[in-house]
Amino acid sequence: MSVLRDSFGRAIRDLRVSLTDRCNFRCFYCLPHGEPPIAPKEKMLSYEEIEYVCGIFVSLGIEKLRLTGGEPMMRRDIETIIRKLVKFKADGLQDLALTTNGYFLPDRARGLKSAGLDRVTISLDSLKRNVFKQMTGVDVLEKVLAGIAAAKDAGLDPIKINAVIVRGHNEDEVADFAAFAREHDVKMRFIEFMPLDSGHEWDRKDVFSGREIYDRINERFPLVKLDVKRGSETSARYRFADGAAGEIGIIAPVTEPFCGACSRIRLTADGQIRTCLFSTVEHSLRDVVRSGATREEIVEFIESVVYKKEPRHFINDPGFVAPSRSMSFIGG
Ligand code: SAM
Ligand code: SF4
Repeated sequence: MSVLRDSFGRAIRDLRVSLTDRCNFRCFYCLPHGEPPIAPKEKMLSYEEIEYVCGIFVSLGIEKLRLTGGEPMMRRDIETIIRKLVKFKADGLQDLALTTNGYFLPDRARGLKSAGLDRVTISLDSLKRNVFKQMTGVDVLEKVLAGIAAAKDAGLDPIKINAVIVRGHNEDEVADFAAFAREHDVKMRFIEFMPLDSGHEWDRKDVFSGREIYDRINERFPLVKLDVKRGSETSARYRFADGAAGEIGIIAPVTEPFCGACSRIRLTADGQIRTCLFSTVEHSLRDVVRSGATREEIVEFIESVVYKKEPRHFINDPGFVAPSRSMSFIGG
């Protein structure tokens, strides 16, 4: 079996594919001022191109594909690309997932499941209507909650819920989210606020740390660390000591970096490979594919790019410069 390796010996098994830069939300930690001019359509990878390069990635040992964005469900008919990608299960793909803000799920969760999607991660930053609106820019908490219920009904299991915890906004809800995980039997993922907002307003003092998140939950619902090999997992995972349903994961890239175990690369909607969330350079797979390169030449290009993957991020270094593209462009 092939495997992509970087110069530090890390095996790359996980590819995140952004389907679009566009989004119908305005999360203040991501895209507060709306989308900058969107890449023209001809610069975006077509579904045929995405299928072609994903097939190559799978042949090189990628086992997990996650569709993201922007809001991936804003791209027309994503069921089509899911149906194409699911065929790669025959070649070693193990997991096909989607990260979404949940807005379109009430009507479309069933269609995603029948197209072959394995599971969804849904973002939900607050259980309070006013805070949800303040954090996402849209007043649609009820719709997202209905989306979570629809995903569950459709059998898109297990459901993960992402909450970015930002001091002064939603840290008082951490334990309530744990209660939500128990009640709805979902896997909560708490994420530290990273310097990936398009407004470049990130401030270290706004980061509510993984340790603080743990303490808030553990006070109300004692936690037991899950005895799973962390491997390339980005989250530290816990179950509830009393045996209740649900799971907690804490993702702390700022205060407890996990770069040594990173197995990810990303493909932006306009076809650029990014070897780290915080990369300051991108590598145009689109240009290589469109130049008429052979499959072997494309493989060589991918291998050489992966080899250059950064050792770690530099958020905690004095001279840190945030990438110019926000999370919505990079594909979270
Ligand atoms: N629109 C979809 C969504 O919101 O789920 C998918 C794309 S979004 C960029 C993917 C994930 O990145 C979301 O869970 C979001 O909360 C997270 N995210 C965005 N900006 C972030 C930041 N500055 N720090 C930490 N997480 C962030
Ligand atoms: Fe849109 Fe997701 Fe970014 Fe929020 S986090 S603005 S929903 S891309």
